[in-house]
Amino acid sequence: MLYLSKSKYCALRQCPKMLWLKKYRAEEEVISEALQARFDTGNEVGDLAMGLFGDFREMTVLKENGDPDIGKMLENTKEALAEGIENIAEASFSYDGLYVAVDILRKVDGGYEIYEVKSSTGVKPVYYTDVAFQKYVLEHCGITVKGTFIVHINTSYVFDGTLDLGQFFTVKDIGAEVEKESAFIEETLKTGEAVIASETEPDYDIGTQCSIPYDCRFFGYCTRSLPKPNVFDLAGLQWESQINYYKKGLVSYEDLYGCKELKTAKIRNQLEFYVDDKPPVIEKEKIREFLSGLFYPLYFLDYETMQPIIPEFPGTTPYQQIPFQYSLHYIEKEGGELKHSEFLAESGQDPRRALAEQLCRDIPMDVCVLAYNKKFERGVTNNLADLFPDLAEHLRNIADHLDDLMIPFQKGYYRNKAMQGSYSIKYVLPALYPDDPALDYHNLEDVQNGNDAMSVFPRLAEMEPETRERMRKNLLKYCELDTFAMVKVWEELKRVAE
Ligand code: SF4
Repeated sequence: MLYLSKSKYCALRQCPKMLWLKKYRAEEEVISEALQARFDTGNEVGDLAMGLFGDFREMTVLKENGDPDIGKMLENTKEALAEGIENIAEASFSYDGLYVAVDILRKVDGGYEIYEVKSSTGVKPVYYTDVAFQKYVLEHCGITVKGTFIVHINTSYVFDGTLDLGQFFTVKDIGAEVEKESAFIEETLKTGEAVIASETEPDYDIGTQCSIPYDCRFFGYCTRSLPKPNVFDLAGLQWESQINYYKKGLVSYEDLYGCKELKTAKIRNQLEFYVDDKPPVIEKEKIREFLSGLFYPLYFLDYETMQPIIPEFPGTTPYQQIPFQYSLHYIEKEGGELKHSEFLAESGQDPRRALAEQLCRDIPMDVCVLAYNKKFERGVTNNLADLFPDLAEHLRNIADHLDDLMIPFQKGYYRNKAMQGSYSIKYVLPALYPDDPALDYHNLEDVQNGNDAMSVFPRLAEMEPETRERMRKNLLKYCELDTFAMVKVWEELKRVAE
């Protein structure tokens, strides 16, 4: 028998091999931290949405190991249906090995409506697959489904201090799309049965389905025998084009090297650095020109921000970027000492006022401020200026004096093999300073990237004091390394420009 949950059915619909791998090679599935964080966020939003239509009864029962107790959830659902409960959260149904838990099952005249809750800001076609499967199982369990809906986040909602679920969520009727998608279910289930019946790995090749609608978590496994680097490592080439070259048998960089149509500088550089073992390209004049636009006092600024889905502070919207930390290295005059300043907010309160005030104390007006990808720092600074009119002149002055350290790499004035066609500082830094442990983010504890920082900071308030102290130190170390890395990149540019 084919045992399928909603997520496994969606995997089967995307690629039958994915379902087979989930059953027979589950250990090969790679769930990134960013993806896990998205799952956690989805759960949080799902819990909140349960109350969207007022009183509800939740069916969730967990076993001691934290897994859902499906048997009990099915029983509870039967009871809730018999009692005529109006809103059933996580309503569970099983038919012929197929299992679904409906986020919200709402009783209406003559039947029930299915509400699927998503933490996204809109409706994506893949949701139709998920909901069509739910409808299919419910109907086979004798439930009359009168409507199907997606509940997603309304990004225009402005929090006023009390969360209004009716405003925070948007409900979209997807009945027509679900009808169309329902036509594929029987056939998809037959394919799934055939694939799962055999212990032999099915012969499905890499294709566009590996990234659409979701990046497949078995991609590393399915591409394990390809030469390295290969077409999927080539920065600057769209996914569909990568697949096209792969299908034509042009996989390794050596294969791709001769393709005349691959002519953008970014792609040619990657191929030539690798195949010809070309030495680094350093356009001294261009780098000198860039450096001549900088002046002392010179500041290196980097923010850390969070984007709470459920707004915490009055006046903010879902997913609004809230800065909570910055690091600042600075040199006041040529040959001067490198100094450092930093800010990390207390968690649980709106960090923006304290951050803006300290920033204005730390960075004088009319100085040169360097960021790596200044668009981000400028946006954050200008948003603070909009929020605090009394600090606006100073904050806008900082934003207007931002220069971008990314430019020499983005424009290709300095490029080498190790950058792999990327100008992100996460590639540029190790390419300029290979094997320098002081500049290696992997040597940091707990917080090694912006996503870590974004997920650690909001949890500080609920941590034990000792853990909180450690995490605060590690947040500070991480952000400090970001601006120290910028200083080192700037020093390298000066060195090669001489
Ligand atoms: S990587 Fe592609 S071929 Fe392999 S299981 Fe995933 S979707 Fe299927």
